[in-house]
Amino acid sequence: MTNNIAEALKSAYNAIQEFQTKQQLKQQSRLIAVSKTKPAESVAAAYQAGQRAFGENYVQELVSKATELQGLEAIEWHFIGPIQSNKTKDIAFYADWVHSIERLKIAERLSAQRPSDKAPLQVLLQVNISGEESKSGINPADLMSLATQVAALPQLKLKGLMAIPQPGKGAEAFEQMQKLSLQLIQKHPEATELSMGMSDDWQQALCFGSTMIRLGTAIFGARGIPSHD
Ligand SMILES: *Cc1c(COP(=O)(O)O)cnc(C)c1O
Repeated sequence: MTNNIAEALKSAYNAIQEFQTKQQLKQQSRLIAVSKTKPAESVAAAYQAGQRAFGENYVQELVSKATELQGLEAIEWHFIGPIQSNKTKDIAFYADWVHSIERLKIAERLSAQRPSDKAPLQVLLQVNISGEESKSGINPADLMSLATQVAALPQLKLKGLMAIPQPGKGAEAFEQMQKLSLQLIQKHPEATELSMGMSDDWQQALCFGSTMIRLGTAIFGARGIPSHD
């Protein structure tokens, strides 16, 4: 398993680099290895192979893996799942990044609960770009006012935007996200991150300016159904 993860990481990084060269893409993009439902040993194997940034969707998994692996220097935890207000305290303590901010109330709680001896939590606002009723995220029309409010919170640092487009609607959604990101940067020059693209659509996301692609299956293989959270 260890070898498979190391090999999958290597081929993902190679594929990304080849694609960036071929498309002459200029932005720096990072790979977030999405380890949800996978055991801490898989995360440790990826870490040994050089990976530092990991994405988790479920608070309980974030807490247990971050605790188990706290000795790994410079490991970076990205929380990318839906956030219930009774779970913000653990996220504020264990995460380095949160990609899935969609409401001011959650942002306020995260800021208030972020320990003062830690660096501010780096946050992205999740945008409901495909306009689906069931999907999470703020409506594009409400994005700029949420951004202003979040940017004012003392223990958060607004870093950019995130989206999970409806499957099949990638290109259109990614293009809209790129426009929203440019608007955001005009008012918040440090909010340059654009988290979009997963195992099936990362190439398209990179073409529209993604700076963080979130790969789960491509790195760790297929997932089972989580039994919690
Ligand atoms: C699970 C998940 C991913 C990774 O998806 P893959 O298709 O396995 O690469 C990325 N982003 C979010 C928000 C996820 O929930």
